[in-house]
Amino acid sequence: MKAAVIHAPSKITCDNTEDPGIKESTDVILKVTATAICGSDLHIYSGGFPQPKPMILGHEFMGIVEEVGKDVKNLKKGDRVVVPFPIACGSCYFCNSDLPVHCENSNHEHYGPEGGLLDQKGGGLFGYTDLYGGYDGGQAQFVRVPYADVGPRKVPDSLTDEQVLFLTDIFPTGYSGVDWAEVKGGETVVIFGAGPVGIMAAKSAWLRSAGRVIIVDTLQYRLNKAVAAANCETILWTDADEVVEKIRQKTQGRGADVCIEAVGFEPDRNLVDRAKALINFEKGSIKVLEACMSAVRRGGIVSVLGVYPTYYDNFPVGQFFDKGITLRGGQAVVHKHIDKLLQYVIEGKIVLDDIITHRLPLTEVAHAYDIFKNKKEDCVKVVLDPWA
Ligand code: NAD
Ligand code: ZN
Ligand code: ZN
Repeated sequence: MKAAVIHAPSKITCDNTEDPGIKESTDVILKVTATAICGSDLHIYSGGFPQPKPMILGHEFMGIVEEVGKDVKNLKKGDRVVVPFPIACGSCYFCNSDLPVHCENSNHEHYGPEGGLLDQKGGGLFGYTDLYGGYDGGQAQFVRVPYADVGPRKVPDSLTDEQVLFLTDIFPTGYSGVDWAEVKGGETVVIFGAGPVGIMAAKSAWLRSAGRVIIVDTLQYRLNKAVAAANCETILWTDADEVVEKIRQKTQGRGADVCIEAVGFEPDRNLVDRAKALINFEKGSIKVLEACMSAVRRGGIVSVLGVYPTYYDNFPVGQFFDKGITLRGGQAVVHKHIDKLLQYVIEGKIVLDDIITHRLPLTEVAHAYDIFKNKKEDCVKVVLDPWA
């Protein structure tokens, strides 16, 4: 089959690889009909998460069930499903505690590459390096889906792939951000990052009846997209102090009720060397997290959706303590929200596909990563067709 394989930082190619097969009786094999590139893939592409051997990337995918393990009860060949990006067994301590993204059974592979990135093993993710279980991802014609009774959700034929694809990750991720921030109605929500995740957080903030949604980005074309797709007020990032000042001016000097960090670690160059990655973290976007901590009001909530592939960094603990800030974050709890969010899509309460700017064949994956990573061609979101 054709698949997008990462060989080294910035080196991703569409290769001919072996078809996946059923390994466990609870697996299905999915024929992928649509898959997207996520900002999280860029942390692998840039070397922030090192991957020691070639791997098929991709954790935003959907498709048709092709083959079914003998113990799978809820799916049959021909079912059309979207698949949450975290892999969860559905029965361990964490899965039973509404924390499937920390599943104890989905990550039996290696973790902590040399130097140790995390101090405890977490759950498994599709196509997200050996650190997260070493599973091949869905930027491919076929993918093995473990614990197939737990993650995949059937979707109605009346909806196109593009209308439901983002239920796999970025919509539940944006929604997790406002849910962690306890948005109930009337709040001023400031979102840093007008990428796909930031825009989905903005859409989610409106779903939860936020009073105002202000979005910040370094790129004007991304802000324009956020206005068109989610009707946000915008602030163009110049430097942290200026942005914080503007936010305070808009909020009677108090600051925002909620800040959502949807940028994540952004190295200023490709990080091939893990040690250098750790040393150079302060050149990444820890400054955005600091801006969130400054821009939020006393007693406010900061939700961190952006991924930080660093074990330690200059966390602004003084502001955290003095302002009594609540800080939430992590990989999104997709399983917790996906059924309700699918219902919103079915009812037409929300539109997701208006952020797509590029539709490309999987064979052009190298170009697709280049334009998404380097923000070329006004790229916001790329959907790949594995069969074109
Ligand atoms: P993206 O790269 O398309 O978007 C990031 C945006 O941040 C870009 O528009 C960029 O211009 C902007 N930005 C950069 N520096 C900035 C600054 N100083 N101030 C304001 N904006 C700035 O990526 P994305 O797909 O939107 O993902 C965003 C983050 O969310 C990534 O770190 C990704 O790994 C993470 N993510 C997390 C989860 C989760 O479960 N928590 C899920 C999906 C993605
Ligand atoms: Zn993602
Ligand atoms: Zn589990």
